[in-house]
Amino acid sequence: MNCPACGSPDMGNKVLDETLSYGGQSLTLHAMRGEFCASCGEGVWDVESYRRYTEAQAGLLRTVKGDVGDDIRRIRKKLNLTQTELSKMFGIGKVAFSRYERGETHPPAPVVKLLRLVDRHPDLLREIGDV
Ligand SMILES: [Zn+2]
Repeated sequence: MNCPACGSPDMGNKVLDETLSYGGQSLTLHAMRGEFCASCGEGVWDVESYRRYTEAQAGLLRTVKGDVGDDIRRIRKKLNLTQTELSKMFGIGKVAFSRYERGETHPPAPVVKLLRLVDRHPDLLREIGDV
């Protein structure tokens, strides 16, 4: 097989660890097998490793989105606020929190950090509303 990126015939089998990262979470897949190009470094996973790679990627995406969405919903309920009230407080679109909670959109990091701060110090909520 020639390299799909540069066409070099110099492809060799390798076994290596591949680390996936998404939304501050990472995951390492061990003993991934594939053929790698000696000239440009481009690689092609074998069927089994490719399957593991795509499954891990989907799982990571689900974990990150699911966790954050559930966390946001939990904090919002604890603060006894509607999605609209919270959006108004943060000065963002009305439907934003509904999207975050359903995992459709990944919330911006500052929003998540601020919410987690309010989760620990609920008395700060009043001050956010005043700013
Ligand atoms: Zn190549």
